[in-house]
Amino acid sequence: METLLAVFAHPDDEQFGTSGALLACVERGVAVHVLCATRGDAGEISDPALATPESLGAVREEEMRAACRILGLTEPEFLDYPDGGLTLVEPDALTRAVVEAIRRLRPRVVITFDANGGYGHPDHIAIHRATVAAFDRAADPAFAPDLGAPHRVAKLYATAYPRSIFPAMDAAFVAHGFPALGFGDVQTIADAEIGTPDEVITTAVPADRFWDTRRASLLAHRTQYGAAHPFAVLPEAAMRPLFATDHFRRIHPPPMPGTALPDESDLWAGLT
Ligand SMILES: [Zn+2]
Repeated sequence: METLLAVFAHPDDEQFGTSGALLACVERGVAVHVLCATRGDAGEISDPALATPESLGAVREEEMRAACRILGLTEPEFLDYPDGGLTLVEPDALTRAVVEAIRRLRPRVVITFDANGGYGHPDHIAIHRATVAAFDRAADPAFAPDLGAPHRVAKLYATAYPRSIFPAMDAAFVAHGFPALGFGDVQTIADAEIGTPDEVITTAVPADRFWDTRRASLLAHRTQYGAAHPFAVLPEAAMRPLFATDHFRRIHPPPMPGTALPDESDLWAGLT
């Protein structure tokens, strides 16, 4: 059976710009695993009836399990790192954890964040660095033989929110009476630097047909997307176009110089 591994930082990172492409993988019979470095214990609490700051990590773990069940993924795995604290983790420890997962699960395709973490979230950036390092080290027989037999991943992707989509999302929010999308104190980059430049996106996966399933999966993260959240409130006509395509930047193998991008519409393109 084909296997894909997605390496992220928080419960719900598997949703934006990603869950449609994961559903396309499930549809073709791929086993999709998510490795989540934290339990999201520093996140929002949409309704005090759902969690306390003390219970939030455990609650979000269960939300994540429910969200993955809706998508048809395997049970998510969690590392025991604190939300907001991945930059304090020894980088080699994080890389080793990803190498261990790659060698055990032996995926042909791996997904993680782009180098800027989407919007500069320090945890996302730490996960990007660890996963890129693990991609090489997992294949290196000289690296940590105690972590399992070497495994070479065929394709490594970064999730890519097209830079052009943020004004459209802001417009949808504002048109319905919400403030423009903001990323709070985890945004460490300028608004103009958010997302991935459209012209380096290699992969555009059609995802509109998965709208109902991915929306249900997103809303399973109840502490993050309560009944008053824009993603729960905005009409389908405003939201659905923003989720019609999931985009990625293929890190390995890189696009051929001079090739028109995007050059593929499927994470498994070229793999037989
Ligand atoms: Zn996150």
